[in-house]
Amino acid sequence: MKKVVIIGGGVAGLTAGVYARKSGYEVEIFEKNPVAGGQCMGWNRKGYHIDNCIHWLTGTQENSALRKVWETIGALTPNTEFVQTEKFFTCYVGEESATLWKDVERTKKELIQLSPEDKTEIDTFIEHVKYAACCQMPVEKPMDMMNIFDYLKMGKSMAEMPKVLKEYGNINLEDMAARFKHPVIKAVFTDYMPKEYQASSFIVSYATVVSGNGEIPVGGSLAMTNRIIDKFEKLGGKLHCNSEVKRVTIKGNKAYGIELENGENIAADFIICATDAMEMFDKLLGRKYMNKKWSACFKDEESYPLFSGFQAAFSIDRAMFAHTDTVFIDCEPFNINKKEIRRMSLKSYQYEKDFAPEGKTVLQTNMIQFDDDYRYWKSLNKDDYTGKKYEFAERMKENIEKKFPELAGHIKLLDCWTPVTYERYCNSYHGAYMSFITKKDVKSFSVKGTIEGLHNVFVASQWIQAPGGLPVAAAAGKFAVQRILKKEKRSIMI
Ligand SMILES: Cc1cc2nc3c(=O)[nH]c(=O)nc-3n(C[C@H](O)[C@H](O)[C@H](O)COP(=O)(O)OP(=O)(O)OC[C@H]3O[C@@H](n4cnc5c(N)ncnc54)[C@H](O)[C@@H]3O)c2cc1C
Repeated sequence: MKKVVIIGGGVAGLTAGVYARKSGYEVEIFEKNPVAGGQCMGWNRKGYHIDNCIHWLTGTQENSALRKVWETIGALTPNTEFVQTEKFFTCYVGEESATLWKDVERTKKELIQLSPEDKTEIDTFIEHVKYAACCQMPVEKPMDMMNIFDYLKMGKSMAEMPKVLKEYGNINLEDMAARFKHPVIKAVFTDYMPKEYQASSFIVSYATVVSGNGEIPVGGSLAMTNRIIDKFEKLGGKLHCNSEVKRVTIKGNKAYGIELENGENIAADFIICATDAMEMFDKLLGRKYMNKKWSACFKDEESYPLFSGFQAAFSIDRAMFAHTDTVFIDCEPFNINKKEIRRMSLKSYQYEKDFAPEGKTVLQTNMIQFDDDYRYWKSLNKDDYTGKKYEFAERMKENIEKKFPELAGHIKLLDCWTPVTYERYCNSYHGAYMSFITKKDVKSFSVKGTIEGLHNVFVASQWIQAPGGLPVAAAAGKFAVQRILKKEKRSIMI
């Protein structure tokens, strides 16, 4: 039996592991951390559970191709329950608010009530959200393995998408906000995602939630990760945690195996790199394998920014907080890395009773941080880093109490973390937890998942296609195995 070694036990690596086992290969995954899952993670603090990934999982719609992938790897089962929410999120500006409901007609009605003078733009927005509901990620096979019939099928099923791209593909979210007059509606478009994102990405995200294709599985990120690990191990795959890989051993145009940080060597017929992209090039393979496309994007931070977060989790009394999902609020301005913060997010986990002791819940905030913010955190010495983390978390707490005075005295910090935490935990470049942002007027990043000059090394990671995220990670894991099968002249239909 030929052997596949996978470096990295995030969703991409685990997905590759399941598909490689199902294809009959001997499979071993090597993960640096004590537990697998990478960024699809949750952890416990002071009797509470902090869930740090799934805000929505694309591909929950029954009978969709992506749902089939989630079910194949065990992430979802036919019995998986989904969180019952009515909203995508709510924005407050002062005392006024606007909600993006799952029911788009309700959203439309309420937005028009709030701002009749924005009616034309609201109608256009809602119309395009409906068009975007047809958007499905192609996961049957990698694009370069598709034939004319596959392309025709894809074109037919996504027939309405060109309308979305025409209207919103050439503007970013800041431009989109500028089309509206009402300050709360403007906030709707700049609060949820970095304002640099193409507006069409936001439309697709909201459409995914509206169409029931972007639910949150009950139990959250860690529970989903554990289901995939369980599936992989039941299929006979071997997962080695606490096993950081130092390098891929290469001779000529072939990789022979890997060397672990502890000096151990493991032989392999095929290697799948399922780590952060820079970790792969800088450490595992060597920079000479980074092709022009990758290096152009890494060099051009202006056109291809990466983002991470400064985040904090708090415990609160459930009964004192009416919101059961995500809200955005104004905050007293404060600076992180000389950048003024004026808005903040609050995600309430009231819908997960098991995440907190009886009567309590977890509230989380996330301030988007870019490459230069990562450098700021990285430049601090240990004491300043810790001091600043707690100082900013305190600012967030004060702002929450200002907006919701009933919480004063009932809110306690559980944990706070920064882009440097992601770097330490997942070896993530600049702490990025998604791939490159697709800005307007910039070509969206995507690569094949092969390494020029190495015929038996493949890439499975969210990095192969902007903007990354769980669906890209899972698809990349599946595609890497399909590339091995093609190389072996076997059927790629798995
Ligand atoms: C706050 C937050 C919210 C998010 N929300 C969503 C969401 O709502 N929906 C969505 O789709 N996505 C979301 N994401 C993104 C999602 O988590 C990622 O896209 C996905 O988990 C990436 O998977 P991956 O396997 O490609 O990479 P990773 O998860 O980074 O996995 C790489 C693995 O490789 C390991 N590794 C690195 N170097 C080595 C080495 N040298 N040796 C061995 N192991 C190594 C790492 O420890 C890690 O486990 C969110 C992420 C965060 C942090």
